[in-house]
Amino acid sequence: MIPITVVDVRDAESLVVEVLRSGAIAQGPMVKRFEDAFAAVSGTKHAVAVNSGTTALVAALQVLDLQPGDEVITSPFTFVATLNAILEAGATVRFADIAREDFAVDPDQVTAAIGPRTKVLMPVHLYGQTADMGKFAPLAAERGLHLVEDAAQAVGASFDGRRAGSFGVGCFSLYATKNITTAEGGVITTDDDQLADRLRVLRNQGMRARYQYEVAGHNYRMTDLHAAVGIPQLEKLDALTAARQANAKRLSDGLAGTPGLTLPAVLPGREHVWHQYTVLVGPHAMLSRDELAAALTERGVGNGIYYPKIVFDYECYRGHPLIPEASTQDFPVASSVAAQALSLPVHAKLTESQVDTIIATVREVLGA
Ligand SMILES: *Cc1c(COP(=O)(O)O)cnc(C)c1O
Repeated sequence: MIPITVVDVRDAESLVVEVLRSGAIAQGPMVKRFEDAFAAVSGTKHAVAVNSGTTALVAALQVLDLQPGDEVITSPFTFVATLNAILEAGATVRFADIAREDFAVDPDQVTAAIGPRTKVLMPVHLYGQTADMGKFAPLAAERGLHLVEDAAQAVGASFDGRRAGSFGVGCFSLYATKNITTAEGGVITTDDDQLADRLRVLRNQGMRARYQYEVAGHNYRMTDLHAAVGIPQLEKLDALTAARQANAKRLSDGLAGTPGLTLPAVLPGREHVWHQYTVLVGPHAMLSRDELAAALTERGVGNGIYYPKIVFDYECYRGHPLIPEASTQDFPVASSVAAQALSLPVHAKLTESQVDTIIATVREVLGA
């Protein structure tokens, strides 16, 4: 079986052992070291490490002082954490449809969704390519809105030479399957000194110095054990990304012209870090998306559907007071992409011959 994802953190052994032997296993100097390396990678002044990508999003929203009724505009085609974080922060969610080219919210749709209570634009950089930040950064500035980037899948990605997470408040995930992992973990990036300071206080029970509480906080802390797992990967990020990019290129060259398949595009000015390599299986393909997925699995080619439905299209969100008037029919592009998207293995551990097997298998089952 060629797996859709492989976790390889063996290079962290000596740093992890160092932390274990020190006995200081909670948040400490290793987290600081991880944060400094992460800030350098994202080109931001600050990186605040937390215990998940979800808490990164929640904390980023909490320090923006949103009031009940304030709205966050985001994508209906994303991992559920984007939505859950907004709800946990107590904000009202507005969705804007996505663009088929980059799978991220469409700037025109976002502009149309802005209302008097809109406070935050939250594009999701899906699959490792940024949203159209050339439009979202000026739009947020002109309208006086906060820009929070769900960059969970986009560590190292860039738009016009600027890294994901450096346009607004960047929120990253370090979950086991992400491009960089600490098992569980997250990071918030910002250039704003005051925001970074508030995030650091918030993540530690709202405590500035021992028993000196400034806000009602939380425990969002990362541990030194987790930071130690991530440091070697950050040091190798460029090589890990280059391996994904080479695999994506080989896949695209090999799959070009397969009837019914739309291959993922790298849009001008964007550096794609290929968290996922996602094709669209159109109505004229020999197999439906679900049939193709089953045929690949049967032949030992791992694959994944990210994501099978629009994010709010589940019973638990129906009639939710913070998700007003959302109907799947209002998001035709997201609906069609959710029915057609299929991700193929692109991770850094693939060999060229495995990539060739993926290509040959897809072509064979689609009659190409
Ligand atoms: C993974 C992910 C998250 C959440 O990160 P966790 O570390 O799993 O909490 C949020 N948004 C997107 C788009 C993700 O892919």
